[in-house]
Amino acid sequence: MAPEFGWNDYAGLDVEGKTVVMLVNDPGFATKDETLFKGNAMTYYGRWTYKFEEAGRQGAAAALVIHQTEPASYGWDVVSGSWTGAQYDLVRPDGGASRTQLEGWLHLDTATELFKSEGLNIDKAIADAASKDFKPFTIGDAQLKANIVQSVKTTTSRNVAGGIKGTERPDEYVLYMAHWDHLGKNETLEGDQIYNGAVDNATGTAAIIEIGETFVEAGAPERSAIFVAVTAEESGLLGSAYYGEAPLVPLNKTVGGINIDAMLPLGETKDIKVIGFGSSELEDRLKVQLDKRDMYLVPDDKPEAGYYYRSDHISLAKKGVPMLYADPGNDHVTNGLTYGEDFAKEYTKERYHKPGDEYDNSWDLSGIVQTTDLLFDLGYTMANSEDWPNWYAGTEFRALRDAMMMDDMSSKETAKEE
Ligand SMILES: [Zn+2]
Repeated sequence: MAPEFGWNDYAGLDVEGKTVVMLVNDPGFATKDETLFKGNAMTYYGRWTYKFEEAGRQGAAAALVIHQTEPASYGWDVVSGSWTGAQYDLVRPDGGASRTQLEGWLHLDTATELFKSEGLNIDKAIADAASKDFKPFTIGDAQLKANIVQSVKTTTSRNVAGGIKGTERPDEYVLYMAHWDHLGKNETLEGDQIYNGAVDNATGTAAIIEIGETFVEAGAPERSAIFVAVTAEESGLLGSAYYGEAPLVPLNKTVGGINIDAMLPLGETKDIKVIGFGSSELEDRLKVQLDKRDMYLVPDDKPEAGYYYRSDHISLAKKGVPMLYADPGNDHVTNGLTYGEDFAKEYTKERYHKPGDEYDNSWDLSGIVQTTDLLFDLGYTMANSEDWPNWYAGTEFRALRDAMMMDDMSSKETAKEE
């Protein structure tokens, strides 16, 4: 269901007790048609997390996503790697009753076989699904039988938060967020077994601590600020999801949030990269700060991969709070863009989610300082303003934000009447 984009695959469909089989990504990616969804860029509706959640809301018994490498933006190895072994989730108040009983992925070959066995052509079905006239259909008489053997273990981890109270409007909050967890230790590895996570995400954690201290040094702003180091990002954004479910301050009093996740020690750059570019008016505020520094903004270069839906800010965004996720860019002040791109490629290939993501004395921290300083100014000026930056019109979370702000206004009016 994507009301902003005039699309509802569940219209007139009763999936209660059935198995829903879906494709990954959305029709804009499939067709590159700029008038469908956001064209090539993935929307939240294209992300598998949304698809599973929606199938649960619709009362389906099970939900399967057909894996295709291009629209998923990764191969089957990533699916099989992350969907086997222990799976983590929050302890849900309803014990998971609002989810389907089974969530999983189908290999494209298996899905092709399944369609064929019921006399259907999967290529045609995939093509049809990208059309506005598409109507979901039954895959013949196919039935899903599954035997799930599992054991459930409960474990505890913590989000760590601090804040500074505003002088004029202390009940309004600017939020900073960074995940403090990483991948722990792998004793099956030869040599270094410790995943330090120096870039991912000691840089972000250090940054929000520094920004918090700078708020204190600069003097309390008019609004309050809250700094949350969230846990278990690497296990499925669980710390931020928990914060979204049990926020320390009301979400409709949270003016906007800034998430910091993995800043590369590349040195100062001329640019800042905004992941999920085109989301909210926080980007306009960021541009003001960039102009002051003679820097420029670049959208992320693979919007079809949906990176905006893969870090902690999404946990708050899908509750309606405008969230910005920005990283230092690649355009190094003296060495240029290619240098920065090569630096980023080296990190992704050799260090990302490996023991090699480790602090090194050769690091040039000036770019991390630059970005941290910039994100301080962004939040501090917002904390000294009366603005409520919103999602841009027509984006996925705008309706939620508008509704929660209306709730707030009506509760104020009731309070006045009493
Ligand atoms: Zn991270």
